[in-house]
Amino acid sequence: MAQQFDTLIIGSGLAGLTLALQLADQKKICLVSKREVSDSASSWAQGGIAAVLNHDDSIDAHIKDTLMAGAGLCNKDMTRMVIEHGREAVQWLIDLGVEFTREADDSKYHLTREGGHSHRRVIHAADATGKAVQNTLGQKVRAHPNITILENHIAVDLITTTKLNKTKKNKCLGAYVLDIASGKVITIGAQQTTLATGGAGKVYLYTTNPDISTGDGIAMAWRAGCRVSNMEFVQFHPTCLFHPHAKSFLISEIVRGEGGLLKLPDGTRFMPQHDERAELASRDIVARAIDFEMKRLGLDCVYLDITHKSPTFIKEHFPTIHKRCLELGIDITTSPIPVVPAAHYSCGGVMTDNKGQTDIENLYAIGETACTGLHGANRLASNSLLECLVLGRAAAAHILKAKTHAMPDLPYWDESRVTDADEEVLITHTWNELRRFMWNYVGIVRTDKRLSRAMHRIHMLRDEVHEFYSNFRVSNNLIELRNLLQVSELIVKSAMARQESRGLHYSKDYPELLPEAKPTILEPGANYSLLDNKHGH
Ligand SMILES: Cc1cc2nc3c(=O)[nH]c(=O)nc-3n(C[C@H](O)[C@H](O)[C@H](O)COP(=O)(O)OP(=O)(O)OC[C@H]3O[C@@H](n4cnc5c(N)ncnc54)[C@H](O)[C@@H]3O)c2cc1C
Repeated sequence: MAQQFDTLIIGSGLAGLTLALQLADQKKICLVSKREVSDSASSWAQGGIAAVLNHDDSIDAHIKDTLMAGAGLCNKDMTRMVIEHGREAVQWLIDLGVEFTREADDSKYHLTREGGHSHRRVIHAADATGKAVQNTLGQKVRAHPNITILENHIAVDLITTTKLNKTKKNKCLGAYVLDIASGKVITIGAQQTTLATGGAGKVYLYTTNPDISTGDGIAMAWRAGCRVSNMEFVQFHPTCLFHPHAKSFLISEIVRGEGGLLKLPDGTRFMPQHDERAELASRDIVARAIDFEMKRLGLDCVYLDITHKSPTFIKEHFPTIHKRCLELGIDITTSPIPVVPAAHYSCGGVMTDNKGQTDIENLYAIGETACTGLHGANRLASNSLLECLVLGRAAAAHILKAKTHAMPDLPYWDESRVTDADEEVLITHTWNELRRFMWNYVGIVRTDKRLSRAMHRIHMLRDEVHEFYSNFRVSNNLIELRNLLQVSELIVKSAMARQESRGLHYSKDYPELLPEAKPTILEPGANYSLLDNKHGH
């Protein structure tokens, strides 16, 4: 028998936890998370949550800043809706007990100002906002009797009426989920299913994202028949530590802000040649300049040098960075820091409306997995956690009003034609190959030639992974690889479709901005459909 719930939520980051808590008093929830509940990009968020919380600030100013960053591609209604609901969403977190940092005199919450924001409006919990929010919400979710949590369970694919040949109108009925420990795939049926699976940074060799960010929700939704949008807009953080044992450690912008200089291995500065603001140019420009120098000289990394400041200054201003680098054998008071740009945020995703509804009835997508149109062609800092909160709450309100529908019997996962994989190296090799060519060909600066090379390789790997998926029992790594490959194809396809440079998408072949801003919308169809499900039905 399939396990039945009112609502299935796939993902336990801020989006998934918000939705779960909003629904749990009235619905039986199944919350599936492929690692532990706390293992998410949300936990890693440092800066904070943008919202209009100060008298000097205004909704219109926040909207204006968001639209400016989005380079003509933000959906204006969605932007207004998210920003207008910011204050109440933050208040909900405060009511749940999240302890945000207060002013020194304790009179009010301390708000920081980040790049692109015209006002102080980022509420935070020191430099570990995500952890504070995730811990508080995680505890509430664990304590709620109506929430069944399945940790170390990874969703493989959605179950829909179209896949079951039940109706022409596509409706979501639940999902197949792999219990990673036992290797068994279970069937979960639900009135509504929500994808809250986060971003897809692991498509790239270098990323600030945690290992869970493999674009699973985007790939599952696409395979099930949803449109995806704006996948070419991947935000790169300019400076991530380059070290074999330091996965995804961010070297914050404040190091450049306090005088850090970017240098080539021979000690030459290069930023002044790229922008008159040199190291203080905007994130995209710095990331693009580093990428240019690395490709020009065939470098593995460049260096961020702060050694001209006194050791006391460095330790006082960057205690975490100093400590972490020292653990890895780099004393930043005497040596420059090896850095590379790294994929940070996916602006595109599953197309949804302002309630998180996708193209498939009873299927929702919220958080970084979704493309609501808020971020347009470039995300304004700290608007992403805000979006998780507001859309999590909006989806909950919609689900609570939905009528109950009859559920058909759901088929089991069919393993009769598959065997255990004999060589895991095939998966790890393909994974490494994919992430490397995505980095080199579909990274910060793109050309038609690089994109078509990437697409060619994706098609070759697709055939190999398809064969593997059809013949062997599914594993966590295979599921993630299959999804990464799918998402890579969607990114390349979208990048090829955009013949201009806008926001985060920069093409050497089309450096100009077209007069009209249009989103890239991919419609599922025979040509794009990658790696059909052989197991389920
Ligand atoms: C280092 C860093 C710093 C950041 N700082 C900020 C900031 O200061 N402010 C801001 O607004 N944004 C920030 N961001 C971006 C922000 O953290 C993310 O956009 C946001 O947390 C995404 O939340 P989410 O709930 O959509 O996904 P996530 O928090 O990534 O959660 C995804 C969840 O889905 C689960 N999952 C994924 N696939 C499956 C599957 N197949 N089956 C089961 N479970 C699955 C994962 O295990 C995880 O629980 C930062 C990001 C990073 C990486």
